Amino acid sequence: LKKFMRPELDRFAGYAACKSPEALDDVTRALGICKLDANENVYGPSPRVRSAFASFNDAHIYPDSCQTELRKALAGYTGVPADRIVAGSGSDQLIDLLVRLFISPGDEVLTATPTFAMYKFFTELSAGKFIGVPRDQDFNFTPEKLLSAVSNKTKLVFIAMPNNPTGTQVSKRTIEKILETGLPVVVDEAYYEFTGQTMAPEIGKHPNLMVLRTFSKWAGLAGLRVGYGLFPEDVVTRLDAIKDPYCVNTAAVAAARESLKDIDYLMSNVRLIVSERERLFQALAGIEYLKPYPSAANFILCKINGKDAAEIQRVLERRGILVRYFNSPQMENYLRFSIGRPGDTDRLIAQLRKIG
Ligand code: PMP
Repeated sequence: LKKFMRPELDRFAGYAACKSPEALDDVTRALGICKLDANENVYGPSPRVRSAFASFNDAHIYPDSCQTELRKALAGYTGVPADRIVAGSGSDQLIDLLVRLFISPGDEVLTATPTFAMYKFFTELSAGKFIGVPRDQDFNFTPEKLLSAVSNKTKLVFIAMPNNPTGTQVSKRTIEKILETGLPVVVDEAYYEFTGQTMAPEIGKHPNLMVLRTFSKWAGLAGLRVGYGLFPEDVVTRLDAIKDPYCVNTAAVAAARESLKDIDYLMSNVRLIVSERERLFQALAGIEYLKPYPSAANFILCKINGKDAAEIQRVLERRGILVRYFNSPQMENYLRFSIGRPGDTDRLIAQLRKIG
């Protein structure tokens, strides 16, 4: 198995995905690997993306720096006008750009932890100070507790709705209360399609609300790097001024546009993932040494009791199942399982039972 671990797996999978949807399955099956470590979408992109790539002829052309067609398509999908939308090379890039826009050295970025690691990463790259207010035992938080950490240096708030890696959802009421402070608030909706809960309709109402989304999870385009954000008009102007003009490449633009023409197909896969998530949750809850946390996303976080999570990760890896291990003061001895196909769930559950 080691021989086929990353980067070989990525190379194999990328090659196979270009050839046919079935080929990726074949390779993964032949290698015996369930890749459940990075919250990707096992069903891959819409078949329309593969058809578009078969006749793709824009590799030598720079992308449209104004993202005109992509923004138009995103306006149709989100209900937010095109002039309030900016796309980036994954939502990661938009997180970076927003931190650059709002944070000068010494300024503070506020969030509830544990959460998505890139908020801290980009804050510190911009010489900002990352302030993480600890979530409670169940990884929830109240707006009052979060806002008690606001200082005159707080310049930006990130809230992942739902949160990664915990899967916990936060209420729209909580977001509203944070918005009432007037601080710039980024609601990261990377997993929106798995929940249906969104702040997008509020964009016109709050001048301090920003929403981030991605094609990586629901649309199966993680490798192509397409994310976008919904912003107040002045933030769009300022982002346009600092973003790399060609930040979303022509293949990614084509794939995103094709995805938006095939929403029903992609959402049927989202529904499969959500029902598989519920089945996996029930099974994990029935395994004595595991405590799964309810999730609104495409993964489940699990506390490991009385066993070493790192060792379980290694055992699973030797048996061809890749999962994510977490060990930090706030998350001691945890594993996170991305949701795969029913066969992946069966295999994961069988191996976890065997370990028990
Ligand atoms: N936000 C959250 C909460 C995420 O979990 C992720 C992906 N792991 C991202 C943003 C980044 O997504 P993208 O692939 O669009 O950069």
